[in-house]
Amino acid sequence: MQFLENYSLRALNTFGIEARARFFTAAANLGELMSALEYASAKNMGLLVLGGGSNILLLGNPDLVVLKNNLQGIEILDESEKLIRLRVGGGVVWHDLVLYAVAKGWGGIENLSLIPGTVGAAPIQNIGAYGTEIKDVFESLEAVNIRTGDTRLFSHADCRFGYRDSIFKREEKGRWMITSVILQLSKSGEVNTSYGDIREVLRSMGVAEPGVADVSRAVIQIRRSKLPDPAEIGNAGSFFKNPEVPEAFFLDLKERFPAIPGYPVGSGAVKIPAGWLIESDGWKGYREGNVGVHSRQALVLVNYGGATGDEVRILASRIQESVEQKYGIKLHPEVNYI
Ligand SMILES: Cc1cc2nc3c(=O)[nH]c(=O)nc-3n(C[C@H](O)[C@H](O)[C@H](O)COP(=O)(O)OP(=O)(O)OC[C@H]3O[C@@H](n4cnc5c(N)ncnc54)[C@H](O)[C@@H]3O)c2cc1C
Repeated sequence: MQFLENYSLRALNTFGIEARARFFTAAANLGELMSALEYASAKNMGLLVLGGGSNILLLGNPDLVVLKNNLQGIEILDESEKLIRLRVGGGVVWHDLVLYAVAKGWGGIENLSLIPGTVGAAPIQNIGAYGTEIKDVFESLEAVNIRTGDTRLFSHADCRFGYRDSIFKREEKGRWMITSVILQLSKSGEVNTSYGDIREVLRSMGVAEPGVADVSRAVIQIRRSKLPDPAEIGNAGSFFKNPEVPEAFFLDLKERFPAIPGYPVGSGAVKIPAGWLIESDGWKGYREGNVGVHSRQALVLVNYGGATGDEVRILASRIQESVEQKYGIKLHPEVNYI
């Protein structure tokens, strides 16, 4: 097992930010994972787990041991007439898992097609798209404590999932490496087409009674048309979370800004699309040097090439301040600052 010093992470984060890890290695099995933990401990250094690098902003050269999660494997645990339980290695590419499930006709994650990154990172922010979140099919996960090497099973309740949130972004942040995830997929063929975009694309595809594969194809088509491809322009998808505000606050805003959209999310809260706030505040397509706001998708900050993490961070703070001044709403990054 090799530990590479001063290793460039540029190709390992979708923002394409140049930053060098003090030490870098990859673990393809639990033995290698343990060796990496021992190495970091012997050097008295912190350790950062890296998946696909699609939800991070590197602010400098991490003075850490960076451990790429390459734990593979999709294993069927058991199945009934209606359900199938899978244990999936944390390093499996998320979209590869979706394609595998879709090819078998197993439902539950087809709306999450084409989300970049790894299976091990997916529960961290409870990935979601088009009316589905991983929590809807999640059973449990196995993780190794980065400091002690102890293993632990986290149940659904333990993870305390929220909107783009879990315990791994709060109390347990940076403490665990998720080694595998156990999911329950459905064999019923039932699909979720509650999002208007999906229904429209299915109609244009001439599909009247969609199955799992049709929904996956529709989602892929929508995402390709809407989101910039990190292979072409550096980005980490949605940079900010959609803010939730009390209903009374929303109604007050609505009087002042009648076009503002909002969706009730229960317990008297309303979710407002962050992209709308940023766009209506005039930031869409804005560019400053190497960084900017995507011209078709105001929620996506981009690296036009050669940007530093700090340049992105400064642009993000300017947007936060500007939106807060205009609407009185604080935007919170979805992306993890490292
Ligand atoms: C174009 C684009 C579109 C996107 N669309 C969506 C979307 O629709 N919905 C959505 O929810 N997200 C979306 N994202 C965000 C991103 O894809 C997800 O957050 C994804 O789960 C990140 O996975 P990753 O492996 O790349 O994580 P990384 O970026 O490598 O890591 C993210 C964080 O998790 C930690 N981490 C990673 N793996 C592990 C592990 N095994 N154990 C413990 N900690 C770990 C890292 O230390 C870091 O703090 C998008 C991103 C891009 C670039």
